Amino acid sequence: MSGWLCIVGLGPGDPSQVTPEVNQALANATDVLGYIPYVARVTPRPGLVLHASDNREELDRARMALGLAAQGGRVVVVSSGDPGVFAMAAAVFEVMEGRPDWQALDVRVLPGITAMLAAAALAGAPLGHDFCVSNMSDNLKPVELIKNRVRAAVTTDMAMAFYNPRSASRPHTLERVFQVLRAACEPERLLLFARAVSTPQEQLTWVSLSEATPDMADMRTLVIVGSSTTRRVGRFVYTPRSVS
Ligand code: SAH
Repeated sequence: MSGWLCIVGLGPGDPSQVTPEVNQALANATDVLGYIPYVARVTPRPGLVLHASDNREELDRARMALGLAAQGGRVVVVSSGDPGVFAMAAAVFEVMEGRPDWQALDVRVLPGITAMLAAAALAGAPLGHDFCVSNMSDNLKPVELIKNRVRAAVTTDMAMAFYNPRSASRPHTLERVFQVLRAACEPERLLLFARAVSTPQEQLTWVSLSEATPDMADMRTLVIVGSSTTRRVGRFVYTPRSVS
């Protein structure tokens, strides 16, 4: 029997936000690979081997997944949210680039609800007009590039979503990004700190730029920075669809 590989997104947390297509792939799988807390979200069953690994081992995990599929395994690589957003799909293709023999394998990427969209939906519609997305982690790019991209986005007055805003190993990046924002935006600019969305620890906090501090974020937080038109309506926040 020929093997396959599905690279899937488990959504932001709650099982109700896993797509039926992803559940189907998991039901048919022989092997599931992923970062430890994501694999823990997969229900064990006889005939399914769970391979949990550390988050610094993404290329090794991708190599193992492709290797298992090449040997006839029905393999699922799990990410949180969407697998194409700062997650495993790009890692798999990076490995595939150096292995032409694996390029003909049956590989599919199955989308999931990314943290940004789950957070925006809870908050109202802060991404109702143009927006851009940035990964604040400087593991794979220099902090100067992060700042330059934020500076460029701010000049176009787009809303912004920041993934991986803060970790113990790099506590200062977010403060440096806030300095870029403070230099260019009005102090009333709205910021959302959306923590652990769609889990029991879920917490949503809207503050103005003048009130925002980096310790409002951790690695389970998604930050949304509104545009100049983003505003409150009752308990919601939205960005109008047009600029007048
Ligand atoms: N592929 C994932 C993102 C992985 S990067 C996705 O599409 O959502 C990890 C970052 O995603 C975290 O640091 C945080 O910024 C964000 N994130 C993931 N799950 C989240 C959740 N439930 N609530 C808030 N932010 C989340």
